[in-house]
Amino acid sequence: MHFDIFTLFPGMFDGPFDDSIIKRARESGIISIELHNIRDYAEGKHSVTDDYPYGGGGGMVMKPEPIFRAVESVPGLAEGRSEASSLPGNAASERPAIILLSPQGRPFDQSVALELADHSRLALVCGRYEGVDERVRRYLCTDEISIGDFVLSGGEIAAMVIVDAVTRLLPGALGSEHGADQDSHATGLLEHPHYTRPPDFRGWHVPDVLLSGHHGNVDRWRRQQSLLRTWQRRPDLLDTAWLTEDDLTFLEGLEREMPVG
Ligand code: SAM
Repeated sequence: MHFDIFTLFPGMFDGPFDDSIIKRARESGIISIELHNIRDYAEGKHSVTDDYPYGGGGGMVMKPEPIFRAVESVPGLAEGRSEASSLPGNAASERPAIILLSPQGRPFDQSVALELADHSRLALVCGRYEGVDERVRRYLCTDEISIGDFVLSGGEIAAMVIVDAVTRLLPGALGSEHGADQDSHATGLLEHPHYTRPPDFRGWHVPDVLLSGHHGNVDRWRRQQSLLRTWQRRPDLLDTAWLTEDDLTFLEGLEREMPVG
């Protein structure tokens, strides 16, 4: 998987991409990341990348020319783009996905991360200030993604979130083929609690079943804890999660023991 990231602040990526899982994934060739400084594609003595908004109002808007030039400088990236391709939600098409980070985009979640992990390359365009000129969204980008209903100062942190969430889904990135399978949201449920040594920490004990060595019981406990957590914290997820007959019986038991309201 190759990531092209277009930003006015490439230095922001130094720490997060140089440690831990992302670092290892880069070193082992599972991913590669190229940072493109949009300012390098601005013209004039002052390399201006933003300008006042037409119509007035506060803030500045990122100019289209440097962003188009930056993206178009990467071979094979912006070929075949069109207005029709700028509609959100078509990232799985054959064209390389050029994703605009934006609080107005489609919500990023685990299913979108899985969808993006199917691509061989992704381009991420980071906005700043009041955002980018609308023509970048309309005529250059193929997708628009938000990492949540809040406003960040720039798209850089959103890009890091996407790179991280997508990378851990790639085979080998976690050091084990099934590492991410049981994570929260991967199964449609929240994951069960985890414990490690010591078995007794300040009088707080690890549940006996986890010390029993009985794999069947451990699996059943984990599944039920996962269901319990999801039922308590994110009952909305149960509407779409894939549930077995045993799961449904367990949830019915919870409803009986602890009726809501
Ligand atoms: N004026 C814009 C609006 O109200 O929609 C917000 C601009 S924001 C201050 C600057 C940039 O941060 C955006 O262009 C976008 O790239 C990024 N950004 C902010 N919030 C984001 C979010 N929730 N998800 C992804 N990117 C975000």
